[in-house]
Amino acid sequence: MIQFDVITIFPEIFKGFVSESLLARGQKKKIIRIGLHNLRKWTTDKHKTVDDNPYGGGPGMVLKIEPIFKAVKSIELKVKSKRSKNVKPKTYNLKQRVILFSPRGKKLTQELAKKWAKLDQLIFICGRYEGVDERVADYIADEVISIGDYVLNGGEVAAMAVIESVSRLIPGFIAKKESAQKADHAQYTRPEVFIMGKKRLKVPKVLLSGDHKKIKEWRKNII
Ligand code: SAM
Repeated sequence: MIQFDVITIFPEIFKGFVSESLLARGQKKKIIRIGLHNLRKWTTDKHKTVDDNPYGGGPGMVLKIEPIFKAVKSIELKVKSKRSKNVKPKTYNLKQRVILFSPRGKKLTQELAKKWAKLDQLIFICGRYEGVDERVADYIADEVISIGDYVLNGGEVAAMAVIESVSRLIPGFIAKKESAQKADHAQYTRPEVFIMGKKRLKVPKVLLSGDHKKIKEWRKNII
């Protein structure tokens, strides 16, 4: 079981994402758990302020460090042994990582997903606006991750990408073990010939041949 915890100012974005298809089944089967946390919960003023102007000037707002620090501290799983007479409860080290999303971060890869799939908990910090106070990257996050060379509105889509790529590697999450990890070859299904205007789009002959050796060979070369 892996626990994903997402810190965001827009938790509603995740509603459909976590309650459909494989992720819904994974949660039901207790293979994964997903916690959604509104950063505003860890503010203290009446307006629930999570952002402020950047020092040195410039456009837009920056997410503040205080609520993020409090959120991470309160979400981090802590395992304690059962309290018994005269014995102090022990705290065991859980395998956890705190991930901050940034277009300036290290690229998300299948190798990283494989590493993270062995953890007990992944906490995601989703930036918004002009980004996040850099001290979060320096002192709170274990890793700063980008999902590609483009700029998104926020880290929520990045968190979804990590949740999907890691979940697929948790035993039992998907039925077919072999399709969990590799980028597969090209696939075709019926009809054998699809008429698109004047074009006849055919399925490669080898796939209809029934010759499994040849098909395997063909698939090795077609990605
Ligand atoms: N100039 C800002 C910067 O360099 O961080 C861009 C901020 S962006 C509009 C708002 C947030 O979206 C970022 O703080 C980050 O959390 C998220 N984000 C944007 N692009 C991303 C990417 N390619 N990968 C991961 N997160 C991204």
